[in-house]
Amino acid sequence: MTDAGGIVGEFFDLKADTDAEILAMQVGDFYEFFDEDAETVADELDLKVSQKSSHGSSYPMAGVPVADLTPYLTALVERGYRVAVADQHESTDGHARSIARVVTPGTLLERTDAQAQYLAAVVATADGYGLAFADVTTGRFHVSSVSGTDAADRLLTELYRFQPAEVLPGPDLRTDEELLDRLRDRIDAKFTLHTTEAFAPGKARHRVHEQFGKETTESVGVEEEGAVQAAGAIISYVDQTGVGVLASMTRLQSHGAGDHVELDATTQRNLELTETMQGDRSGSLLATIDHTATSAGRRLLAEWLQRPHQSIEELTRRQSAVEALAAAAIARERVQELLDGGSDLERLASRAASGTADARTLRAGAETLALLPELTALVEGNDRLANSSLPSILEKPDHDRVSELQGELDEALVEEPPGTISEGGLFKKGYDEELDEIIESHEAALNWIETLDDREKRTHGITHLTVDRNRTDGYYIQVGNSETDEVPEEYEQIKSLKNSERYTIPELEEREREILRLEEQRHELERELFEQLREQVAVEAELLQTVGRTLAEIDTLASLATHAVRNDWKRPELREDRKLDIEAGRHPVVEQTTEFVPNDLRLDPERQFLIVTGPNMSGKSTYMRQAALITLLAQIGSFVPARRAEIGIVDGIYTRVGALDELAQGRSTFMVEMQELSNILHSATEDSLVILDEVGRGTATYDGISIAWAATEYLHNTVTAKTLFATHYHELTALAEHLDRVANVHVAADESDGEVTFLRTVREGATDRSYGIHVADLAGVPEPVVDRSQDVLGRLREEKAIEARGGGGEPVQAVFDLQSGEFRQEADETTADSQGTAAEKSREATADGGPEEPTQEDRIPEEKQAVLESVAEIDINETPPVELLATVQRWQEQLDES
Ligand code: ADP
Ligand code: MG
Repeated sequence: MTDAGGIVGEFFDLKADTDAEILAMQVGDFYEFFDEDAETVADELDLKVSQKSSHGSSYPMAGVPVADLTPYLTALVERGYRVAVADQHESTDGHARSIARVVTPGTLLERTDAQAQYLAAVVATADGYGLAFADVTTGRFHVSSVSGTDAADRLLTELYRFQPAEVLPGPDLRTDEELLDRLRDRIDAKFTLHTTEAFAPGKARHRVHEQFGKETTESVGVEEEGAVQAAGAIISYVDQTGVGVLASMTRLQSHGAGDHVELDATTQRNLELTETMQGDRSGSLLATIDHTATSAGRRLLAEWLQRPHQSIEELTRRQSAVEALAAAAIARERVQELLDGGSDLERLASRAASGTADARTLRAGAETLALLPELTALVEGNDRLANSSLPSILEKPDHDRVSELQGELDEALVEEPPGTISEGGLFKKGYDEELDEIIESHEAALNWIETLDDREKRTHGITHLTVDRNRTDGYYIQVGNSETDEVPEEYEQIKSLKNSERYTIPELEEREREILRLEEQRHELERELFEQLREQVAVEAELLQTVGRTLAEIDTLASLATHAVRNDWKRPELREDRKLDIEAGRHPVVEQTTEFVPNDLRLDPERQFLIVTGPNMSGKSTYMRQAALITLLAQIGSFVPARRAEIGIVDGIYTRVGALDELAQGRSTFMVEMQELSNILHSATEDSLVILDEVGRGTATYDGISIAWAATEYLHNTVTAKTLFATHYHELTALAEHLDRVANVHVAADESDGEVTFLRTVREGATDRSYGIHVADLAGVPEPVVDRSQDVLGRLREEKAIEARGGGGEPVQAVFDLQSGEFRQEADETTADSQGTAAEKSREATADGGPEEPTQEDRIPEEKQAVLESVAEIDINETPPVELLATVQRWQEQLDES
């Protein structure tokens, strides 16, 4: 195909030089795609395909106008393609083309929404993983590392937290299919294989030092080789794709430090922090509480939710601002109005660094910088705000430098600059002397032309005379046919029209040349000056980022205040101890759409573990999630949905949902459920909050109970974390009697008149009902079956043995012994005896409550024998309770018929 030659040949040559999947090549006013690329692009973006012939072959071709490339590029990249962009330059021998950049999901600079866009690199280390994350649109750069037996889980948590758009797996990871599969499963990112060389420790360290300085790198504590490798690989990748933002990546942040609350990936998903379990943004906690005015504010709020804080000092600082903003309604609205008019300074920094910011962007930046003194004045002018932590937040950026940069931009750029930097009109008068001179001469020449018609009319006494300009004729003097006789001799005729003649004169031609020359000079000089100005701004990337973050913080705090006021949220008391005392708490999301019944919750060192029981749909899951969410909200500095709350700071929130809600979505297998439980039991500490929602549901009853039972003991005795455990295993409520710090609560329901009315009220103590059977009753299952299952259940609980019973009080044929896990035919006395104590116990059980035992002489009819055989065959550990119930019912029917 390389014999195509011409434009198509050039396309193939460039394509061969890049690892991008799609190439957009500039040809004059269009970016063109050829061959397979044309077809891909046409398919994805609904473009028309035409044919381009070249050297006797024909190639599919699709194109977009140069000015429209951005939206197409963005759409392709968002669909996961790597797109190379080749620009055309004028050169002495015509056009030259070269690849300017490769745009990938993690390096797309054109992003305008509120989402962060992280590029991640992951490297395997001796005992875990090193990670780095960069957002090229804002210049953020984080490194971290995870280790230990659950390193893979922690890795997943980190990735889940940042939701990267693109991941660069290190060389060692590429063969770890199992891990990669797990990552791909949970993270919606493109996985890109960057050169192995970029991950080499020496090279990577060199790059990191070059980018951030050796001292910074060391003071941030990035000694971890894996983290350095990952960071180095990212820098190399960003550099190689040509996005040109390295200069805006100024600050290296390291985390994993003890400041943040551990929220594993599962918990973030279960608590629906930024999206619901179904993957929708609306209905998430973020969407519910978000009243930010800016996209930077929205990004920060999301970040806070994903990384709650442990430091009471920092949280109190935030609370103080929220409280003041909540109280000062009018000032708060004014703050939000001001912020609303600003632009995204973090992104401006990146665009200035990459050379993509235009004059409008810089102008908007200047206006946003001006918000800092305005906000400061507003805060100082309001007693409440002035006495809060807001002044200290606003002090973070260097105000003098801000006003200097703002002043410079303001003096330079006109109020409403054009959208292109190549056609002049960007600068104010007085900014540059040389430019002013050019503009002056330009305007004088224009003015000369503008007034030419008047002069000519007067001098030559011609009334129908105009001076104008068009593309083909340039400037001309036009005279109506009635007066063409009067034109003076120096008028040189250039065109005849129907009713008039066009002329030119030497002076006009001269001015025209002058104007063209001056225009060109002006455009060139303005462009040059603008590029200088933009570089000056790029140098201040860090300052812009600091101001951007400060404004974002004010925005986020005002948003929290707005939500608190509108929903009557209260400031929680933060405590160092392990108390959790919530009075009239509500679920922050559910309360928006439901007449919510508030509930109390009390946990403390003497009452550390609550077993929550109650009917299906009564509100167990909601009650527990609300406890987690209130704790989390308190630890971002927010007010909380409760009348009063005392929150002991937690170091981690862990949730595991084994509930049917999860199973129904096909997300949970028993294996995943157990992996997650294992992670909790490994990671939680005495300062953590653990939420277990129907853990053990994914397996047969006795398996489930045993696991739930043992996990409860372990959490209570060894981990000693604050724990809420909702369970349908009524058996677990007995644990409260044996374990000191375990207490039972239940969600009450009123069941008079055979109807369940959910009261949504949480009360002390356990329920005494079996709700599964109750539901069966409500569903119209025949009364004998319901009664009998109640009976069976009672036996199961008390005797741990169940006898299969014949119809109409017939004698018992067999007894299933739960301890031995086998059926025992009463007829076979010797076997029964050899079963030992367990068998004896169950025989006693049947003896004191059940019907008479059969004698050896009793003959078993054939039909009954069949039932017995299937009784013997059924594996009770592998059969869900409902199925078991149905099977028992079928046996009864068969026995009835025989
Ligand atoms: P469970 O986990 O016990 O099956 P859920 O917590 O899933 O029950 O709650 C079932 C439904 O009841 C939810 O859809 C929720 O909207 C509603 N609900 C739960 N708690 C309350 C409450 N305190 N006030 C009002 N509605 C509630
Ligand atoms: Mg539930």
